[in-house]
Amino acid sequence: MNTNTQVATMRVFCIANQKGGVGKTTTAINLAAGLAKLNQRVLLIDLDPQGNATMGSGIDKSLLAHNLYDVLIGESNITEARVHSENGGYDVLPANRELSGAEIDLIGMQERELQLKQALAKVEDQYDFVLIDCPPTLSLLTLNGLAAAHGVIIPMQCEYFALEGLSDLVNTIKRVHRNINPELSLIGLLRVMFDPRVTLQQQVSAQLEAHFGDKVFKTVVPRNVRLAEAPSHGMPGVNYDPSSRGAQAYIAFGAEVIARVNTSNE
Ligand code: ATP
Ligand code: MG
Repeated sequence: MNTNTQVATMRVFCIANQKGGVGKTTTAINLAAGLAKLNQRVLLIDLDPQGNATMGSGIDKSLLAHNLYDVLIGESNITEARVHSENGGYDVLPANRELSGAEIDLIGMQERELQLKQALAKVEDQYDFVLIDCPPTLSLLTLNGLAAAHGVIIPMQCEYFALEGLSDLVNTIKRVHRNINPELSLIGLLRVMFDPRVTLQQQVSAQLEAHFGDKVFKTVVPRNVRLAEAPSHGMPGVNYDPSSRGAQAYIAFGAEVIARVNTSNE
C-alpha cells in the first residue's frame, strides 16, 4: 500500500457514539495524529463543549481567540479559528464551553443543521481528512457533524450492552441519510479498550463480526495506559509513546482508514 499518495478528495468522518466514555476523543486525536504521520493533511474538529479533543491536542481551550462556536454562528470562519497542533501534526478547530450556547443560538437560524457543512466547503482543497469528535449526545451539534460528513466511525467497547446501543446509532445514521445527508454512510466499527483475556469481550467481538462483517475494522485498539496518560501531557498517544501498543494500533488504524477510502474511490 502506498500511504504517501494523497486521497483524491477531502473525506469528512464523524467519530460518534451516543454512549459516554467509550473512546471517541481518544480515537479522534490518535487517528488524526496517525493520519498526519502517514503524510495526510488533517483537520480535527472538536464538536464537544467539554473541549477534550482541543486539550488533548495540546491547545489551551481557555486561551482561544476564536472557536467552533464562532464559526457555527457565522462570526468567524475555519481559516481564522483553526489552530495548528504542534504535538499532533494536524490542525484543530477548537472548542470550549462556549460551544454549548450554540445549541440555542442555532435554533433560530435558517439551515441550522448545515452550518458546519457550509463552513467546511471553504477549506475543501486544504485537507485530505476532516475528523469530527462528537459529543455523547444526539444534539443539534452532532446533527451538524453528521450533516457535514461522508461517514461515521463508531468506536466501541466490547461489552454486554454495546450491541443494543449500536442499533440506536445505526438507526440515527439511516435517518440522517434519508432526511438530511444522502452521502452519509457507516464507515466502520472500531473495537477499542480491548482486553483479549476477558471472555465476554471476545464473545461480543465475535458477535460484531458476525453481524457487521466487513464494517468491523481489522485493527483492534487494546486497553493501554499510555493512551490514557497522553492527554494530560497535551499529546496524542501516538506521539507521546510511539512504541506503545496503543500507539501502534492507532497508526495501523490510520493506514486501514486510508486503504478503505482508496478502495471505495476505485
Ligand atoms: P465522552 O463521551 O465523555 O466524550 P469519549 O467517548 O470521548 O468520552 P474518551 O475520553 O476518549 O471517551 O475515553 C474515556 C476514558 O478512557 C479516558 O480517560 C481515556 O483516556 C480512556 N481511554 C480511551 N481509550 C483507551 C484505551 N485504548 N486504553 C486505555 N484507556 C483508554
Ligand atoms: Mg469525548
